Amino acid sequence: MADCIFCEIAAGRAPALLVFEDDQVVAFEDIEPRAPVHVLVVPRKHLADAREATQDGLLPRLFEAAHTVAADRGVAGSGYRLVFNVGADAGQAVDHAHLHVLGGRPLRWPPG
Ligand code: AMP
Ligand code: ZN
Repeated sequence: MADCIFCEIAAGRAPALLVFEDDQVVAFEDIEPRAPVHVLVVPRKHLADAREATQDGLLPRLFEAAHTVAADRGVAGSGYRLVFNVGADAGQAVDHAHLHVLGGRPLRWPPG
């Protein structure tokens, strides 16, 4: 999709620190990390949010990639948080579905 930064990253046309990729999924370091581990897992296909990714059947692939990333980054044992922000009240800033993988420190709950 034109002007979508995560489509550009997935296609290799915009820079990112990739940590995982397969035929349908790409994962890369968040540019503004909120925790020692902060990776975004996205579908290669442009889907606007988690709802569209659900309808497309891609959620299992995104979650499988997220667990792989967590293990690779050494937080499988200490724990990690998986987050989809959906829509304005959740603070979704990029309209291309992305699953946050956060870990490496204790994470407060509830979020702000
Ligand atoms: P959200 O608020 O759930 O939409 O999260 C969007 C996330 O994308 C934020 O954590 C941003 O720091 C991150 N982000 C935005 N642009 C980039 C980029 N070019 N590369 C990596 N992460 C990005
Ligand atoms: Zn996109």
